[in-house]
Formats: sequence, structure tokens, C-alpha cells
Amino acid sequence: MKHPADFEAEARAKVRQMSVTEKAALMSGSGFWHLQPLPQYGLAKVMVADGPHGLRKQGGDVDNMGLQTSVPATCFPPAVTLASTWNRALLAEVGAAIGRECQKENVSVVLGPGVNIKRSPLCGRNFEYYSEDPYLAGELATQFINGVQGTGIGTSLKHFAANNQEAQRMVVDTLVDRRALFEIYLPAFETAVTRAQPWTLMCAYNRLNGSYCSEHEELLSDILRDRWGFKGLVMTDWGAVNDRPRGIAAGLELEMPSSGGMNDALAVAAVNAGRLSMAVLERAACRVAALNLAAQKLAAPVEVDFDAHHALARRAAGEGAVLLKNEGDILPLQKTGTLAVIGAFAATPRFQGAGSSQVNATQTDKPLDAFRAVLGAENVFYAAGFEAEHAKRDIALIDEAVATASKADQAVLMVGLPPLFEAEGFDRTHLHMPEQLDALVKAVLAANPKTVIVLSNGAPIAMPWVDAAAAILELYLAGQAGAGALVDLLFGEIAPSGKLAETFPLVLADMPVQENFANHKRQIIYREGLNVGYRYFVSHDKPVLFSFGHGLSYTQFSYSDVSVAGDFAGRDTHIEVRLTVQNTGRRAGAEIVQLYVRDVESTAYRPDRELKGFEKVHLQSGESQQVSMVLDWRAFAYFDVTLDDWDVEPGEFEILLGASSTDIRETIRIAVPDDGRNQTRLHETPYVVMGDAQLTALGLRLSAPEAIKPYHANTTLADIRHKWLGRRLIALVFKMARATLSPTTGSPVQRKMREEMLLSMRLSTVRNMSQGALTPKRFDLLLHALNHQWIGFIV
Ligand code: BGC
Repeated sequence: MKHPADFEAEARAKVRQMSVTEKAALMSGSGFWHLQPLPQYGLAKVMVADGPHGLRKQGGDVDNMGLQTSVPATCFPPAVTLASTWNRALLAEVGAAIGRECQKENVSVVLGPGVNIKRSPLCGRNFEYYSEDPYLAGELATQFINGVQGTGIGTSLKHFAANNQEAQRMVVDTLVDRRALFEIYLPAFETAVTRAQPWTLMCAYNRLNGSYCSEHEELLSDILRDRWGFKGLVMTDWGAVNDRPRGIAAGLELEMPSSGGMNDALAVAAVNAGRLSMAVLERAACRVAALNLAAQKLAAPVEVDFDAHHALARRAAGEGAVLLKNEGDILPLQKTGTLAVIGAFAATPRFQGAGSSQVNATQTDKPLDAFRAVLGAENVFYAAGFEAEHAKRDIALIDEAVATASKADQAVLMVGLPPLFEAEGFDRTHLHMPEQLDALVKAVLAANPKTVIVLSNGAPIAMPWVDAAAAILELYLAGQAGAGALVDLLFGEIAPSGKLAETFPLVLADMPVQENFANHKRQIIYREGLNVGYRYFVSHDKPVLFSFGHGLSYTQFSYSDVSVAGDFAGRDTHIEVRLTVQNTGRRAGAEIVQLYVRDVESTAYRPDRELKGFEKVHLQSGESQQVSMVLDWRAFAYFDVTLDDWDVEPGEFEILLGASSTDIRETIRIAVPDDGRNQTRLHETPYVVMGDAQLTALGLRLSAPEAIKPYHANTTLADIRHKWLGRRLIALVFKMARATLSPTTGSPVQRKMREEMLLSMRLSTVRNMSQGALTPKRFDLLLHALNHQWIGFIV
């Protein structure tokens, strides 16, 4: 399959003939979703659209907040659920299916996957990201991209980089030390770029160590191009441009959506004034033209077998669900007798997250219907237990649920997070489900101990009732076919085989990130460094609710015959670890074998273990299979800030093979010989959170956060909401949004998202999106008025 880079020579020939204005015009979108057409040069109006767990192509009126409906498309399970499958081949299959749906709709690039690290379970967008572990996220993203791009459709790896919270995402400066940056926040991007070459990459809204990601030269040029050899194009997240010429110089090619020509003019002026080199502008224009040409080489639209895609979505949901607990083997359920199905999510399933990724599903299966189909409607008793949207306290609903649960032989209770509790645009503030749901769980468990708890949520929750529950199935957000997968799992048609791609902590206070998460309007210091997710808990012996990598089955597996072939050989290291996995139980099932590496003794602070390999094997009862995983040099390396490069310290290492990050079954020692280099290393003391001196030693330049006042182009609407003029501007923006995006109708979560997103907008974004109404002069006047309290100012 051809890559846009293959079209660069053809693109260059075209760009050479263009005027500066045309080159600049090419480098920003046309409207919300298209590349700028220049028909005189054979460049078409190519379309890009959101995903990533299904196509979100909008027709007619558009917005990027998922408020408008889009063409029907298969809603696969979101990234959180796909990641819990740990199934590389499945990720590629889903990617290919989404590619085919894009091809049918003439969409050339799907905007995903998202590989940001789940630094905190509170990030509102965690459901769109794969994992807290960069190795797992990188492996899965690679497969997804290969799957999509194998169909001739491009992807956009996002959001580059360190976009790990929704709060203040347009302005916040993320301060990360060099080790955490290279070891935690960048590797998933690195793997996907080096192994799958996504057609495009989307830079994040936030700043990283002082510079906006959209104009971060080290990120966009030194790291992405020079270190990793990225061949595609960098586009902005929607509205992420800060200083357009500076962005172009740093390596940003495409601005999305269009700024109505305003930023193009700035780019032209910068070239004319000699502040931006023509060669840089041309190189960027070439990459956009190459993408345009590649997109036009798409095969003719294909017919899509939506039934087959629905079946694939069901398989993915079945593999992504994680059986957290199954005491007394109460699962699988009997197909006889009566069943109480409790919880509004049985009738109104929560199967995807809200925001720019929201897909208009081709069909939505309901768990309640699926249970009735298995057991007969007369044997299924339903009670809502809570109202699906707000889940307010309602004792009557709990009483009804208790009565329903008591009269049935067994019960399934579907709870989790209602849409209002997690979405793009805002973060959660605690781990709890709404009070009503926790109360409901306690009451139903007391009424019928044979109750299975099924969770629909996109990120970890607290489970104050965990000890009372015999069985808990984390269904996550299961996509449009989740209901079918759920009954397959509960009645034992398939055995659960998902494992957690994230840690479920007991309480937030246990996590070192907590002190520095969304705690400042302009600057977040990642003081926990490498102590993200399981890396922290295993290194500091802290108990958790459920460990990273945990997941049960209806069968058991044994590990044996572990062997290692090959020795450490510097950068040519190729160590093959083999073991035999046997299904020792009485049912078919699948096991995910995990390989962690531990540096036994080191001068650098190394997490106690880090995931460096995994395989998923499907086995019949009694069957066994040899599993092989290969470790290269990087599996042992850490980022040495004194070298500004990866390095491996000599000494003993352990290779841990386990069923989860805390269930290690086999350990092998290997030695890394001293290569005789007299390398000066930084001796680090282990830490939980770092003080300023330690951060500085790790290469972080600490700086004062940007001042909120005097107001400037990066002031957010929220910053000025208490001012009379601010309120007027906000009203105007909301009015514009209603007129151009959608009326205020929509679900409560959509209204909340819209409000949060609009308030988080920078004044410069408002200017760029005003289609010329806020001219530079008016904009300056506006700032002046805000800073000098003119109340008579009229926009
Ligand atoms: C989101 C991106 C998305 C884009 C287009 C932005 O707000 O952050 O993930 O692709 O909108 O909808």
C-alpha cells in the first residue's frame, strides 16, 4: 500500500509552480474536515474525519464536539476496551474494518488512534486511550494503524504529546522531566511511528515544557523526524495553532480546521519579511500536497458488510471484557430459572464515550433484549435501579430493584459511570460512581447474593462493596454489539479473556500523581516522574483494588518449560524467551502471558518491573502451546539524561513471566556484561514524588507559570467569565456555536461538554474561528478593553 511519502516528488513538482499564497493556503484546511483543494494543481477536496473506534463523518452542518449526528457507522468498542483484549491481530482487524467504512464514505484519513498515557484515572478522555503502559499502547496502536492503512486509508496518531488531562487543555503547560518524557509519554508514539508510519500525526493542544506542542521544535522536528524518521505530515488538533509561522518553522504542516485565511496571511507575511524560510514553507506544503495525492489514489468506494462488522464489534467486546472476580464460580450463569436484570444500562446501554469520537452506531443492541432472548421474556425481571443520565438519589428505584432481585434465582446488576460522569472536555474529580449506584449495589447484593455486577465505564472506579460481590465483570464501554458479547460471556458461550490495561487503585490518595493532577490553571508538574500506574504500585509495595494485567477466565492455565535463547549483545540483542502455556481447566479459553523486565541493581531509579512483551493464546481444554517473545536492547534500556539517549546499565536483570503485573509465575536471570565504557551515571534516589532539585537533575527546566493577567491571546473564556465584557463575549461565542454548530438541544452530557469546551477556548482560537470577524485590530482592542475595564466596547 502506498504512503503519502511516495508522492513527495510529484508533490514537489506541483508546489514549485505555486505562488507563496497558494502554498500557504494549502497548509490549512478547508472548513472543518477537508484539505484545501487547488484544482489547478490537481489537488482535490480530500476529507478527514474522526474516529477512532468507528467513523464519525459529518454531513451538512459540522462541529468537532460530536454534537451533530454523523453518517451511520459501526461503533466498535473504544480504545479502553480494545486495549483490554491485548490482541494485536484483533486491533488490526478492527482497524481494517474502519478503513473499509472510510473508503465507502470517501474519507481519506481517520483521526486516531490516541496513545496518550493514562497518567491518572481521572482524565476525562481515558476511554479513548489504550493504557497506562507505553509498551502496550504502542503495540496496539501499531496494529490498529497497520489495519487501517492496509486498506489505503490514512490515520492520525494523536495527541502528540503529554496531553493527559482535559482541564485547561488549550493552555496548560505540562512540565515533564526527560526520563519520564522518553520512557513514559513518548514510547507509544515512537513505536507507532517507527513501525507503522501513520500518514499523519496530530499535535496536542497543550504546551510541553514551555512551548505549545503545535510549535515545539524538539518534539516535531528533532524527536519526530530526526530520532524516529517520521515520514508523514503533522496536523494540529482542532484549533491548536498558537503562532502559525512559528509552528511552520518548528515542523507543523497542516492547520485544522481552517482559520479563514487569517493564519495563511501571517505565514505569507513571515516569508516576505524573511522571518520564515521559503524552503521550510515549501517542504511543509509538499507534505500536504503529497497527502492529498495519496488520498486521491484511493480505490473506488467499497460496499461494506455491516453485519460482518457488527459481528466483529461483538467479538471485540467479548475479548475486551475483564472478569475481575468470580468467587464460588457463580459465573457462568445457568440458562435455566429466573434472572433479575437490574440497572438502567440494561435498557439504555452505555457503550461509548461522549465527544469528538462519538459514532452514530448502525444499530445498538440492548442487554435486556439479549437476556430475554436467552432465557425467555417471562423468566427475566427488570428494574431500572437508577435513571441512566444523572443517576440522582432515588430510594424508590432502589426498593423496586431489591424486590426484583429477591424474587429471582440469580441477578445481573449493570452499573458504572453515566455519560455525565466522564467525557471529552472535562476530567472526573473522584473515583466514585454516583451515590445512587453504590447504594443500589449494596442493596441488591444484600437481597440476592447470587448477583453478578457488570460495569460499564471508561476508566477505573472505586468499589466500596467489592468484598460483598461474588462476581464482577468489567464490560467497559463495549460498542454497539456489547449486549451480545455480554450474554455470551455471562452464559459461558465464550470465556472471559480480557486483562486490565490499567490499574484500579483502592483510593486516589494512593497515587503520587494525585497531588499534581489538574491542580493549576496553567502549569502541571509531573513530579511523580516514572511512578505512573503499576510502575508505582509494584515498586513501592502498595496494594491496589485490581492490578494492571489482571483478568480471570472460566478455566486455568499453567506455565512451564521456560527457556531463554541468546545473550545480551548490545544494540544487536535478540533474546528469545519461550515457555509452554497449558489450559488445565475444563473449558476453552485464552491466556495473556505477560513479560516484565526488572533491572536488579542500577544507579538510575528503575521501576521494579516494566512490561516488555505479551502474547495472547487461545487454547482448548487440555491443549498446550509454546509461546515465544523476543527482547531487544531497548527492553533493558532507560533514558540516560547525561547521554541524552537510551542506555543499558551492566549487571543482573530479571525476566518475569506472569498472568498479571502482580501474579508472576516464573523468573529468569540474565546478565548484561560490562562493556568497559566508563560511563558517568546519575545516581538517583528512589522517589515517590520529586522535588525541584531532582527534576532539574533530570533535565527539566522549571519556569514560572504563565500569568493570567494582563489578559492576552492565550487567555481562556473561563478566565474572563467574571467580567462584564467577558460575559458578553462568552454569550456571543455560545450564540455563534448555536448558530454554526448545533442548537442547545442534545443530551445533558453534550450540553456540559459544549459548555466546558467553549469556556476552555483561548481568545486566539475564538479569533481564528471567527472567520475574519475579529480582525487583528479588533482583537487588540478587545484585549485592551479587557485589561482596562472599558465596558462600552462592542465586538
Ligand atoms: C479532539 C481531537 C479530534 C478533533 C476533531 C478535537 O477537539 O481533541 O481528538 O480529532 O477535535 O474532532
